[in-house]
Amino acid sequence: MNILVINAGSSSLKYQLMDPDTGWVSAKGLCERIGIDGRLTHRIPAKGEKVSRDIPMPTHSEAISAVLDILVDERYGVIKSLDEVDAVGHRVLHGGDKFVESCIINEACKQAIRDCIPLGPLHNPANLKGIEACEKVMPGKPQVAVFDTAFHMTMPPKAYRYAIPTKYYEEDHLRRYGFHGTSHRFVSKRAIELMGKPASELKIIVCHLGNGSSLSAVADGKCQDTSMGLSPLAGLPMGTRSGDIDTCVAQFIMNKYNLSADQCLNMLNKQSGVLALSNGLSSDFRDLESAAKEGNEACQLALDKFCYETRKYIGAYAAALGGLDCLVFTAGVGENGSTNRANICKGLEFMGVKIDPERNKVRGEEALISTDDSKVKVWVIPTNEELMIAQDTAELCGK
Ligand code: AMP
Repeated sequence: MNILVINAGSSSLKYQLMDPDTGWVSAKGLCERIGIDGRLTHRIPAKGEKVSRDIPMPTHSEAISAVLDILVDERYGVIKSLDEVDAVGHRVLHGGDKFVESCIINEACKQAIRDCIPLGPLHNPANLKGIEACEKVMPGKPQVAVFDTAFHMTMPPKAYRYAIPTKYYEEDHLRRYGFHGTSHRFVSKRAIELMGKPASELKIIVCHLGNGSSLSAVADGKCQDTSMGLSPLAGLPMGTRSGDIDTCVAQFIMNKYNLSADQCLNMLNKQSGVLALSNGLSSDFRDLESAAKEGNEACQLALDKFCYETRKYIGAYAAALGGLDCLVFTAGVGENGSTNRANICKGLEFMGVKIDPERNKVRGEEALISTDDSKVKVWVIPTNEELMIAQDTAELCGK
């Protein structure tokens, strides 16, 4: 079975053609500069082949057409005809509180995604463009939307409500939604398998640590709390996002520097986080680590802050769950950053978290990294959001 997984951004579109049963990726790639000029980079992982082409992409439709053309291309194609694509799965950022799980795309689903645009103003319009482009280029092909927010919809009101007047919740739907839900779901599901116990007996914290970072507290296989909020700006300090700050900081900056709310939010989203703490050196954790090793104190502070805030969230979520059986690290930093993992867990021995330094050397592979006598089992589990999207799509389209 072949599922085409699409992640459409405002000027880019990522794709993977994959088998949902085995996770085998026959082709993947990226369309960039949509609406500007257009460039397609296509890879065939099994052959180690990569090809780039400049192709005019005034809209997402031309980008999707370029993807479909190369999938059946004589030289670089991996299928003979588009009939071999069984269905298309789309990553959609914001499902609001309407979507607790993935859904087949129809007019009602598209309208609901449209209704969520005020909550996801940058991503939802781009996701819709990707969906509509596929409808145009592949009419009748079954399509599924998989929402970044859906996994978090099991949170209780005490976790998702903000302590602000009720009308903002009831009329404006302002609440904690959380993001990276597809990753948190994939990884927590895998953790339950690895722990070999029923979900009802497991309290899990998932640390998705990448350029964007979030934690989730999971009990009985369901999300109980998560660190991102109405938007992905909340929670941990990230590559370029500030994470949680006192709202008065924003008010002060807007007043003193005469910034609009949008300008201030842009600064908090794009010029903050570890990038800001490293005095602009880098948002990439590898750069920060090598600079810190050479004595750059700002980079060391950025890393210390990131690990400290992550550790605080782990403590808070262990308290919220009333205990902890399993701690999981995933995404770029979580899967590869052994020093960060060790620093995050340093000081958590009191609650039964003991990392084995040898086991913790692992990079990008599934592994148990806690000691045999650690009460809490600590795992590295590589995330695979595309596979989760492909599996949901296959399931909803009746395989
Ligand atoms: P993601 O957003 O999940 O792709 O993660 C990207 C982040 O992972 C970047 O900041 C990378 O620097 C970081 N990363 C990748 N490899 C390593 C590594 N070996 N050690 C530390 N961070 C890493």
